[in-house]
Amino acid sequence: MKFGGTSMGSPESLRTVAEICGGERSRRPTVVTVSAMSKVTDMLLETMYRAERGDAEGMEENLRRIAARHEDACVAIIPEDRLDETREQLAALLSRFEQIARGMMMLRERPPRALDEALSIGEMLSATMLVQFLEAQGQRATLVPGYEVIVTDPVHGNATPRMELTSFKCREMLLPALLDGHLPVVTGFCGASEQGAVTTLGRGGSDFTATILAAALDAQEVWIWTDVDGIMSADPRMVPDARVLPEITYNEAAELAYNGAKVLHPRTLLPLAPKGIPLWSKNTFNPKYPGTRIVAHSDEKHGARAVTSSSNVVLVNVEPASAAVNPSLLMARCLEAMARVNAEVLTFSSSSYRQSFCFLVRRTELAEAMRSVESVLALELNHGYIRPIEANDDVGLLAVVGEGMKGEPGLAGRIFTAISREHVNIIAISQGSSELTIAIVVRREDVDKAVKAVHAECGMATA
Ligand code: ADP
Ligand code: ASP
Ligand code: MG
Repeated sequence: MKFGGTSMGSPESLRTVAEICGGERSRRPTVVTVSAMSKVTDMLLETMYRAERGDAEGMEENLRRIAARHEDACVAIIPEDRLDETREQLAALLSRFEQIARGMMMLRERPPRALDEALSIGEMLSATMLVQFLEAQGQRATLVPGYEVIVTDPVHGNATPRMELTSFKCREMLLPALLDGHLPVVTGFCGASEQGAVTTLGRGGSDFTATILAAALDAQEVWIWTDVDGIMSADPRMVPDARVLPEITYNEAAELAYNGAKVLHPRTLLPLAPKGIPLWSKNTFNPKYPGTRIVAHSDEKHGARAVTSSSNVVLVNVEPASAAVNPSLLMARCLEAMARVNAEVLTFSSSSYRQSFCFLVRRTELAEAMRSVESVLALELNHGYIRPIEANDDVGLLAVVGEGMKGEPGLAGRIFTAISREHVNIIAISQGSSELTIAIVVRREDVDKAVKAVHAECGMATA
């Protein structure tokens, strides 16, 4: 079971989390993984930005705020006889974070390796409190840092697990504890490279931690606890009549996650597919509600099921300036450059005559992606065989998802018509050969209108 930032975010919700953990542990062996308290990862990041900029006052203020946030939660839930011990543990973690931030201030830079180690502390803080609270309630809980059980490649900020090694470590460390009646609480979001450097799995990565652990341990099920009733037909903050989908397939969930549905980290489904382990998305604040079941195959097939969007994307345009360049090779090398830094290509479209192509990347991955693409194509760029690579960030992505869309004649037409009725211009379109997703790029300011129009046109609010 994984508990997200809001679930770990307040004393009241921590009590609910502990109750859910205890209940499940009494039924069957359970491993828990947790996020940092909500907004803490953002605060850690901001502290390090401030340190890098030399803003000593800003850094100190943030250090105080982070400490106070945990102190307040601690005082509210940890009984008197454990308070000193818990405080000591939290203080040691905070002091390590402070040490790293001060180092950054001195260097005026944020080395990726140090950044990852510092970020992993957010989850260590929340897990420490949960373990203390569970123990105070008579559970035998054990804190396990994610970097002791998850082995990854050395790509800081967006690491990929090495599953065989991870499986070995998980079995070695977690199975004996489970058999012994313990409740391991693994810190989410982080792993470590084979060389032992702490890595992180990308923002929102604790979802991924849960499924990595589940696959490594051959779990029966994974439950991801968050702050909504499950996977919905659209982001409920954008579309008020979005409905909870009782069951969706891995493919549908993965498409939604890749295309911006924040409810799941993009790579959450990857470890589960080979093993067919079902995933439930559930609400910590409404635990009786069954939530959404995500499975390999589903008989529920109704056209377009959900629409998601992301404004955190940038459209990268590559345009040859000379007939001497082989466009297919150019595309291949661009994609390879993206793969080198684990940057995802969200949509890709090309024009056959001008041989130009564009692809969409996440804003968070843009800097690395551009560096990598420009270094791979340095020769062509320097000789003017291709035009300077442009990145347009005034765009947003919309993705309409549903296994049942396959072969439904006229659906794409209806979707485009609904969007154009709102006077929204479509910049790029792509539809994979699986016909599972139609991805549409529009101007950023039009995303909201387009999402609402598609949700209504496809009748997503009703089953
Ligand atoms: P956690 O901290 O538990 O990981 P997140 O904030 O990362 O939670 O994800 C949950 C949020 O995702 C919800 O509050 C909701 O606003 C948003 N969201 C976006 N798209 C969807 C969707 N299709 N279904 C459900 N929630 C969604
Ligand atoms: N705390 C991390 C983040 O905010 C990981 C997570 O919440 O899943 O990105
Ligand atoms: Mg999340």
